[in-house]
Amino acid sequence: MESMLNNFSFEELSTSEASHLKKSFQAFKDNLERKVFGEPCSVAIEVKKESTDGGLKRNLSPSPNMLIAKVSHEIRTPLNGIVGFTDLLKEDGLTSNQLEKVNAIQSASYSLLEIINELLEYSKLSAGLEDFDAIDFNFHNVIKDVTYLCKTLITDKKVTLETHINSDIPRILVGDPSKLSQILLNLLGNAIKFVEEGNIRLTIAKKRKVKDQLFLEFSITDTGIGIPENKLANIFDAFKQADNNTFFKYGGSGLGLSIVKQIIENLGGKISVSSTLGIGTTFKFDIPYALGDSKRLGQTQEPTIKKEKVQQSIKGMRILVFEDNLLNQRLIEERLKSWGCTTFITENAQYGLDILEKTTLDVVLMDLRMPEMNGFEVTQQIRQNKNAAIREIPVIALTADFSLGDKDKCKKYGINDCILKPYNPDELMLTLLKNKKDGKMALAKEPEKNLVNPQNINKSSKRIDLNPILKDCMGDVNLLQELIQLYKRNALEFIGSAKTHIRYGDFEELGLAAHKIKAGLAMMQSHELHAIVVQIQEACKTEGDIKQLQSLYSCFLDEYPKVELTIDKAFMEIKRTHK
Ligand code: ADP
Repeated sequence: MESMLNNFSFEELSTSEASHLKKSFQAFKDNLERKVFGEPCSVAIEVKKESTDGGLKRNLSPSPNMLIAKVSHEIRTPLNGIVGFTDLLKEDGLTSNQLEKVNAIQSASYSLLEIINELLEYSKLSAGLEDFDAIDFNFHNVIKDVTYLCKTLITDKKVTLETHINSDIPRILVGDPSKLSQILLNLLGNAIKFVEEGNIRLTIAKKRKVKDQLFLEFSITDTGIGIPENKLANIFDAFKQADNNTFFKYGGSGLGLSIVKQIIENLGGKISVSSTLGIGTTFKFDIPYALGDSKRLGQTQEPTIKKEKVQQSIKGMRILVFEDNLLNQRLIEERLKSWGCTTFITENAQYGLDILEKTTLDVVLMDLRMPEMNGFEVTQQIRQNKNAAIREIPVIALTADFSLGDKDKCKKYGINDCILKPYNPDELMLTLLKNKKDGKMALAKEPEKNLVNPQNINKSSKRIDLNPILKDCMGDVNLLQELIQLYKRNALEFIGSAKTHIRYGDFEELGLAAHKIKAGLAMMQSHELHAIVVQIQEACKTEGDIKQLQSLYSCFLDEYPKVELTIDKAFMEIKRTHK
């Protein structure tokens, strides 16, 4: 039927009628296939061209979702290689000029990776494979973090961002904080993009309580360019932008709103939009949350351990790597060698299994997606080996796209751990140690003394006297005001960039960012912030552990608004006395 339809002459029909007919047929075909073959399996991208079960030949053409997932996987693999190799290059003592170029390659790769991830996420959400958390989290802190991060995005524009949370909203809720941040960052990010000059306002209020579910209503209003009325109805559709020039002027994939809508609906909420061209736009959405308990906060935190110690402990480990991509093979080989491990790398399942028989090994790193025999199948063979030493060897999966289905599948096949590519070297190191014999004990025994105790940092912002600075400004209050604005911008920039560097474990960039902001903090008598930043810089020099940096970073986040308020008050005082 499909080929007849494809070859049919549509002379009798208008283009839209013909396309409608084709679409209806496609929907019919998809439904029929689902009925006959069942729901697509886990990641829904392994389209088996032929299946001999019951003599029935299947010849499915992949759906757009399958294609997106497949294509993003194909792009992510080499891209992960590029990111990983630039990481290695940076450790090679480059000149500052070379380093600049490598950083440029890396930042371009990360942008590309972000687009690909968006595509992948879209396809997973559409296939209902996205994983949602339900954990206790501090709602107010999430909003505070998002707001600060968004403020860092407003550069060189006269745009203000205000947040108002109704005071009756409880602090601790149960839900998915990272999905909430993602929704808000997307909607606020759009607002920032589409407002040249004006105001953005985020308000959050209680909407209703149904049993023990509290529905919160979020509203994001901007005074930006607005969306034409005839585009509003489709604005949540994938790949839709308000007009054709949007892409050329502002970029973007047109996927953001569609992802946001799917996430909100998955969380049990709804989103709507109203907009007037040239006046502004309001997005409103609600999400239900259960009441949380502060005692359950942060229970999932991993133990902290010093990096050098981990490296020392994994030195000499003998590791078999199943990986079919040449770039990734080289990358992992270099990385493991630099940690003093012995590696055996193969793309051939049988060859790898032979190595296992002949050599004593500590751990297996397994790419899940390989031609011939995939990682699950190879693991299954390992787990069925008659030799207990081989049967029980830890297997760590390395995968570029991971879904809830895969996690369950990993457990089922006896895969001990899983690392998402592009893998963070620290994470790989820790996972290797965790899976080394006695490695878990080493992790558990590590004393907590490396962790910075936020209490050790002398908080409480004291009064700030701006008079000495005013004197440096030769009594010019406007100049002082400019300095204060610059100070705030620098601090916000630091907050934004530090978050990214911590996420990627980029000690060098974080150290640089800390160094850049230090002088300004000292000048503005922000001694507490200065002390935190000095500690961050020290930790970066010794490549201290990420948990410690995260803890310092949240101290900075907690402290900064208070300092800003104190400075603002001091400046008002100066303005009053210098009228
Ligand atoms: P993109 O990645 O293109 O920004 P989105 O799905 O996030 O994709 O947004 C789709 C389109 O909706 C945008 O390209 C823009 O035309 C329009 N849009 C979204 N938010 C706003 C806003 N706050 N003001 C004006 N137009 C908006």
